[in-house]
Amino acid sequence: MSEQIIVAKFGGTSVADFPAMSRCADIVLADPRIRLIVVSASSGVTNLLVDITKQTEVSARFDLYAGIERITNAVLHALKEQAQVGANIKQLLIELTTLLQQPGAFSDAQKDLIQSFGERLSSVLFAQVLAERGAMVSQFDVRRVMRTDSQFGKGEPQIEQIAANTSQYLLPLLKQQLIVTQGFIGADPLGQTTTLGRGGSDYSAAILGEAVGAAVVQIWTDVVGIFTTDPRLTAEARCIPEISFDEAAEMATFGAKVLHPATLIPAMRRNIPVFVGSSREPQAGGTWISKEVDARPSYRAIALRKNQTLITVKSPAMLHAAGFLAKVFEILSQHKISVDLVTTSEISVALTLDDAPGSAFGTSIEPALAALKQFSEVTVEEGLSLIAVIGNHLHSTRGVTGSLFQALERINMRLICHGASRHNLCFLVQDTEAAGVVKELHTALF
Ligand code: ADP
Ligand code: ASP
Ligand code: MG
Repeated sequence: MSEQIIVAKFGGTSVADFPAMSRCADIVLADPRIRLIVVSASSGVTNLLVDITKQTEVSARFDLYAGIERITNAVLHALKEQAQVGANIKQLLIELTTLLQQPGAFSDAQKDLIQSFGERLSSVLFAQVLAERGAMVSQFDVRRVMRTDSQFGKGEPQIEQIAANTSQYLLPLLKQQLIVTQGFIGADPLGQTTTLGRGGSDYSAAILGEAVGAAVVQIWTDVVGIFTTDPRLTAEARCIPEISFDEAAEMATFGAKVLHPATLIPAMRRNIPVFVGSSREPQAGGTWISKEVDARPSYRAIALRKNQTLITVKSPAMLHAAGFLAKVFEILSQHKISVDLVTTSEISVALTLDDAPGSAFGTSIEPALAALKQFSEVTVEEGLSLIAVIGNHLHSTRGVTGSLFQALERINMRLICHGASRHNLCFLVQDTEAAGVVKELHTALF
């Protein structure tokens, strides 16, 4: 049976309100192979919850909470049968508002618990939308299967445990009915609620797809597939009908928000094709991501990641001395700071850090900077954007490199990384110039 299962994930705008949820129900009901449905929080709700976790004033939290209640009630009141679902929603809202009354700052565990309510609410509502369309459907608490470690804000899924839990608790249910569950959230070994990081519902869908042995994972969103660049940046962006796992993974890593960066890891492990399409226009086609593709063009896409921090560490004393880089990276590793781009000279190293926006956590880099300053001069520049040109054989083919550098000629770059990967060339520009640069580069390369 499991070969027949399709896992369908609906993102925030796809479940934003009742009409949007109804369009998703059309998609689910049109294909009997769709058995497991993973939903995000309705659009805007997670942002509100994250903002709430940052407030220490109870009244400020409730101002934000009003927005969540409004979005939730709008869907609730559009349903035909409100008694049971209304009681379930009310119970969730009571649980949430009780948490919000607590004085003082929230712990990291409480922040994750608060953020979990978006998906918990939308999954209850969407299950009812499907039930009213005649489906045999239940809502399932994904925390029963989605075991993570205890890193709140970026819980690491425990794949073996998830597989075992899924066989025990989820697969038997899937044989009898449709299941609607939550993306983004999980539970640690103590049963505490965790989250997988912003945009994590795509990753949840792929992990569950792996656990149930899905034939396909579908990601339904607000664009008709993966484009050559974010279609919000240029009207010239084109949908890519077919793309390989590794190319799409590079795009996701370098900021193509359409997929959470880790989404393709489980899909690649089990060779499960991933489809990306628009829940508003399901008939408009979409993008198939798979292992083998017919074409691997030199230039595939351009990705943009804003809010990058560039740190330059300079130590004249290190001229001809061994171990400078080792020392720098040891400090960063001790402080659990992950580095993206690196360029070096004899006595200095420049590296970029991703300052993920919208996160309720955000690692402080101050202690690491203080340690680096013990033996070097450190400068920190903010407000930068990382632009990645993604393609194939970018490091080797003369014609390819030549035309790429020609396209980059007029761009005012702060740093460039080329050669380590055959699949990408990355550089930094000022945030304020980034959108224009992507547009210009897109015209030149595509
Ligand atoms: P969802 O809520 O469905 O998860 P997201 O907002 O997380 O949706 O992701 C979809 C958005 O990703 C699109 O609206 C688009 O602006 C953005 N995006 C960035 N890069 C790309 C790309 N290369 N192709 C398509 N969409 C992209
Ligand atoms: N609701 C979560 C977020 O907004 C997860 C997701 O939508 O993928 O980040
Ligand atoms: Mg998303």
